[in-house]
Amino acid sequence: MKPLVEVRGLTIEFPMRAGLLRAVNEADFVIPEGQITALVGESGSGKSTMASAIMRAIAVPGRVAEGSIHFDGHDVMSLSKKQLQSYKWEQAAMVFQAAQNALNPVMRIKDQMVETFRAHSKTLTEKQMLDKARSLLDYVRLEPDRVLNAFPHELSGGMKQRVMIAFSLLLDPQLVILDEPTTALDVITQAYIFDILTKIHKDMNITMLLLTHDIGVVAKVADRVGVMYAGNVVEAGGVYDMFKRPKHPYTAKLMKAVPSLYHDLAEREGIPGSPPDLLNMPPGCPFAPRCELAHDKCRASSPAKVYSSAGHEVACHLYPNASSISEVRTS
Ligand code: SF4
Repeated sequence: MKPLVEVRGLTIEFPMRAGLLRAVNEADFVIPEGQITALVGESGSGKSTMASAIMRAIAVPGRVAEGSIHFDGHDVMSLSKKQLQSYKWEQAAMVFQAAQNALNPVMRIKDQMVETFRAHSKTLTEKQMLDKARSLLDYVRLEPDRVLNAFPHELSGGMKQRVMIAFSLLLDPQLVILDEPTTALDVITQAYIFDILTKIHKDMNITMLLLTHDIGVVAKVADRVGVMYAGNVVEAGGVYDMFKRPKHPYTAKLMKAVPSLYHDLAEREGIPGSPPDLLNMPPGCPFAPRCELAHDKCRASSPAKVYSSAGHEVACHLYPNASSISEVRTS
């Protein structure tokens, strides 16, 4: 498993009137090359902030306070302005949440795509740009000429989302990050879009990072999954292992909360309590106030991450070392 992206000890802070908010807190995370990795967690867990940091696009006044991000071995935090321009879109592209709204409402899709090309490539002719745009629109199962000549308001939500996916592929990036790519779309369109994404991943061998709170989607498309809680990646591993043998009590509870066609809905249970206030984090493990396995040590010190030989990693005091890693059982 060769890492394309390696995040180590990443802390991202936002100075607020009420104090310093740590949206990401000493997080470690790896995106293996050629795989689909999913990052799951409740709203506010830090998924989007971590992804924005990978793109060097943290919203002001946020800042990386500590840690490192490497892309294909290169330090993302120290890229020059010029290097950053080619890094974005040409090496890593991101489809932001509610990305349909990112389209310029007063420009035809054709002009927006050409503008993006021109910002990065000085050698392509307009015909070459449009040929590439057409082939990508065709790839995401849209009628290329109709869509190229359309204004965004002439397209449905699902069509706009597919346009944004085509946009992300314009400059042949190695990595595409998709932040909740099907939010606000109906379930049939969601399935259609994930079908397209899986095909793109296979045919173009593009590494993908999928940010979602939809565990069902993760099971369907991802190879690897990381679980974020209160700004930290508390568990990560192969998708089968994570679903079948979750190690962290929060992951186990998340899996139990997922509705299933095969099990009695009454057996599903939510996770009691709420995520901690990031401005007033409790001492010790941030999940302790909601964890039925919490003990004294949990309330006193943060657990360190432990790595198993099978590529599974977990941060919980139940696992003091790699040989102690086993499936957790919660009621
Ligand atoms: Fe629960 Fe303690 Fe593990 Fe935190 S460290 S998840 S409180 S058992």
